[in-house]
Amino acid sequence: MPELPEVETVKNELSPHIIGRRITGVTLFWDGIVKEPSPAEFCKRVAGQEIIALTRLGKYLIASLSSDDKLVIHLKMTGSLILGKDGSEPPKFTRAVIRLDDGQRIFFRDPRKFGVLKLVKNTREIESKLGPEPLEGDFTPKVFLERLANRRPPIKALLLDQKFLAGVGNMYADEALFVAGIDPRRLSSSLTKPEIKRLYNAIRKVLVAGIKYGGASVVTYFRPDGSAGTAHQHFNVAHGQKKTCLVCGSPIERTVVRNRGTYYCPLCQK
Ligand SMILES: [Zn+2]
Repeated sequence: MPELPEVETVKNELSPHIIGRRITGVTLFWDGIVKEPSPAEFCKRVAGQEIIALTRLGKYLIASLSSDDKLVIHLKMTGSLILGKDGSEPPKFTRAVIRLDDGQRIFFRDPRKFGVLKLVKNTREIESKLGPEPLEGDFTPKVFLERLANRRPPIKALLLDQKFLAGVGNMYADEALFVAGIDPRRLSSSLTKPEIKRLYNAIRKVLVAGIKYGGASVVTYFRPDGSAGTAHQHFNVAHGQKKTCLVCGSPIERTVVRNRGTYYCPLCQK
């Protein structure tokens, strides 16, 4: 599933191609991808609008349009936004095509059909459901410590909670906990101050690395040019791709934390 580094990569790599371009129309191959307003109204309202800015909120992409509408895109489990040209064959599993005035096409490819397109007047509702952005300056070790105080859930589950922290999902939570040397099943309230500091640094480190490598293409994520990211090649434990721990040589183990498959090193993570 695309997480913060994947969505940030899509934003960075799409922006130079689409900012300032006018949307001439949208073709839906599957109406269900549009959640708000009705598919017909969505297509009608989007057409003719210029894309003023592209930003990321947690795992959401937000395209600000010239009429002050916000086009909200969520890639969910298996979505990708692939750039093409007028006349290019849409990739398999394309659910929507956004046509731009210079002949470019944005193909929303989404095999599992969990992806979302929405047109809203503002993003307040989305923002109200998101915790701090982990790479922003206002997310400090002190803020992290305060947010963790008296929280009971296993630390892995809390890291996945978008209201606790925006943008972290299954892969980068496993990676951050490995880098911090913390067992994912530990109750959040049991973490010591030094452990919290290590985890804070680890979260930022793994997200920055994920962006640097263009995201992780483990299952179906692609960059806008159709290429794969390489972040997964640098994972220590996530997805269980590496069979043994690079630090201690122990076999990487799999457990389940709140219904999410979780990979960790039983020796390095206490
Ligand atoms: Zn180890």
